[in-house]
Amino acid sequence: MKIVCIGRNYAAHIAELENERPKDPVVFIKPDSAVLSKEQDFYIPDFTQNVHYEVEVLVKICKVGKHIGVDFAHKYYNEIGLGIDFTARDIQSQLKAKGLPWEKAKGFDGSAVIGKWLPKSDFKDLQNLNFTLEQNGKTVQRGNTNLMLWKIDELIAYVSTYFTLKKGDVLFTGTPAGVGQIVANDYLSGKLEGQEIFSLKIK
Ligand code: ZN
Repeated sequence: MKIVCIGRNYAAHIAELENERPKDPVVFIKPDSAVLSKEQDFYIPDFTQNVHYEVEVLVKICKVGKHIGVDFAHKYYNEIGLGIDFTARDIQSQLKAKGLPWEKAKGFDGSAVIGKWLPKSDFKDLQNLNFTLEQNGKTVQRGNTNLMLWKIDELIAYVSTYFTLKKGDVLFTGTPAGVGQIVANDYLSGKLEGQEIFSLKIK
């Protein structure tokens, strides 16, 4: 499986990192080795001094497709989730400054937290989902999918013009404002519409 991630999909997060608002979605990939095993703690890697959490709504692809039309995109996923796109922000800033690819900052082992999956039929409107990330019991990120610059179906259509999507692939749909640093002994918990979807300890 592959993980396809969208950057800069919430206006307020673009502003906090002083990025330009993109004309097209920003797309990058994490390898399958980036998935943090279920129930595992996250160990801050030695090569970074500044790992940021980014809580994101996830979509699991349920069948193979390419050049998927926006109107048909909903047929390509049945499950919705929540996860974290861990980012070595110091490494990413160095790479961005040189115009180099981000993989070392975004695709390292354990950098993709994937929580439990819920049937999309559990929700009335996928483009009106509240989600939060708590760090040590304090809410640090709060988002709603109605604030996405590109909706889920638009993202699937866009991504599938470049990459064939396969059953089991996971789409990370971008993070809202409020990203910040983690430190050892933090406890993170993600909720979707009030329901806890994942929790993990930082080591
Ligand atoms: Zn992200």
